[in-house]
Amino acid sequence: MGRPMLPEARTLVCPFPSTAFCELRDVSVVVRTTESGDFLPSIASAARRQSLNVEAVWMHSSDSVSDLTLSLGEDGPPVVIETTRLGPVAEVLTRLDELRTARVNILVSPAIRENCVAVQILASLGVNAAIGLHSGPVDWDACTDLAYYAFYSRTRKAAIEPFTFMAKNYRRKCVDIGEPFLDSPRRYLHLSPEGKVALTPAHLSRGGFLSETVGSISESTPTGEDVGDASHSLAHLLEFDGCSVCQGWRLCGGRFAGERAG
Ligand code: SF4
Repeated sequence: MGRPMLPEARTLVCPFPSTAFCELRDVSVVVRTTESGDFLPSIASAARRQSLNVEAVWMHSSDSVSDLTLSLGEDGPPVVIETTRLGPVAEVLTRLDELRTARVNILVSPAIRENCVAVQILASLGVNAAIGLHSGPVDWDACTDLAYYAFYSRTRKAAIEPFTFMAKNYRRKCVDIGEPFLDSPRRYLHLSPEGKVALTPAHLSRGGFLSETVGSISESTPTGEDVGDASHSLAHLLEFDGCSVCQGWRLCGGRFAGERAG
């Protein structure tokens, strides 16, 4: 397959292993996998063979952080580990040297209060961590405490996403907090295992595809602004529901309006 004409600054998010991954050449990708960390060297060597620029490997793991298997090697792409829980802190402490590299980021769900505390513990120990604040449900009290720690605490700490991203990009006209979580149609396109292309993870999971193959993507492929429900914003401007005059609009864009209405 020839080099696809990707719209500017788009990265493909591709499952591994999959037919779609084997057919990619000469593009930037984020690799999603449910394989264990032992697979990282296989991903790196496949990417070299296919001339892929791997921006990150996104591991979905059912293991706690204390039980993770990782083969990071000398140099390789950043690794985001989406996991359910931290596990015993005493055991996590024994793995700090491995986890403290700039290339590892631990991502947990914001629905559980303990996860927000876990993220604070990891960041204070120098491990990059993230709370998946791009879609509900969210424990807002716990997340608010974490946001105060991320923005205002003067203690040394590692990055806490999405707050570090928000602080760095606040001067932008619009900050899409889905971007650190691959949920931003302006930055990412998502591939099914067969190679069909979707605009967001939600479109991918409900089978709403933009095109049947990567090869048929072009500069005219719709952007987030063209597809109202993907941009999380157009509907709130067309029909007044309070979002468009909310102080948090530039960061939220109405992402949590459904949760509020519910
Ligand atoms: S959902 Fe709407 S009202 Fe709620 S924080 Fe987001 S923009 Fe504001």
